Amino acid sequence: MKCDKCNREAVIFQKYSSAHLCKDHFIEDVERKIKRDIRKYRMVEKGDTIAIALSGGKDSSALLYILHKLFNNRQDIHLVAISIDEGIHGYRDKTLKRARALTEKLEVPHVIKSFEDAFGDSLDDLLTGGKACSVCGVLRKNLLNKTARENCATKLGLGHNLDDETQTILMNYLRADIDRMMRMIPNNRQTGLVPRIKPLRSIPEKEIALYTYLHDSPLDVDRCPYAPDALRNDVRSLLNDYETAHPGTKYALLKGFEKIIESLKQTHTITPVKKCTECGEPSGRSNICKTCQLLKKPSN
Ligand code: SF4
Repeated sequence: MKCDKCNREAVIFQKYSSAHLCKDHFIEDVERKIKRDIRKYRMVEKGDTIAIALSGGKDSSALLYILHKLFNNRQDIHLVAISIDEGIHGYRDKTLKRARALTEKLEVPHVIKSFEDAFGDSLDDLLTGGKACSVCGVLRKNLLNKTARENCATKLGLGHNLDDETQTILMNYLRADIDRMMRMIPNNRQTGLVPRIKPLRSIPEKEIALYTYLHDSPLDVDRCPYAPDALRNDVRSLLNDYETAHPGTKYALLKGFEKIIESLKQTHTITPVKKCTECGEPSGRSNICKTCQLLKKPSN
């Protein structure tokens, strides 16, 4: 198959746009969409220090690579990578090795924080029947936010791709959780957390994988031994089946969500985020944050 734009060999057929693209035009297409979203949602502004949550997986590695490519020459924008070592035996050590190699190659400052140092135990040791991903998600969010703040970050960049974003939208619809939907607005500043940005939100997961592969990044073959939660798995399969049968479904869902959010902004006010009475961190709708509830002791 030949590229629709230059007649060179195509590396991808995008079913949703019916386009065949060669390596250069594919990379250009991915980066164009990312730049468009960064501008549209003012994800990056003059003077920003962007902390990138870097797990070492394909999405966060692609995010660091692209933000470095776009902003490395800007004197007024600073990047710092933050990796969280949850303490997952046989898994996180491998992804952290890749994260370290990338930050060294790009010469981006890299901060690594562990659950063990921050909370006294690794994830493996903390799990006593609780769902791994729920515990991990709560503690990682807390530690990422604190570390971003300690490093004077004005934005926290997450490598969420189109698949992650549409799964979360659908899960929030299924739970009828309007507050969470409102908090998904890119660059939302009302959460009490360092504002989170998701520059990859319009790029399908498979395209991120191809983008990293074309940049000679090592393949992301390691998988966390703790299974992702059941609802997300079901939603992922459902959306992938729909996308196969009806290409463009994920983009339609994302666009529909953006229209709904515009209407909701007129009628719905996000419930103000409380501060945890134990540790002072943002605690959502409760008086005690989920981290303190999980650890059952005041955090520092
Ligand atoms: Fe944590 Fe679950 Fe992700 Fe594993 S799969 S790193 S336990 S959130």
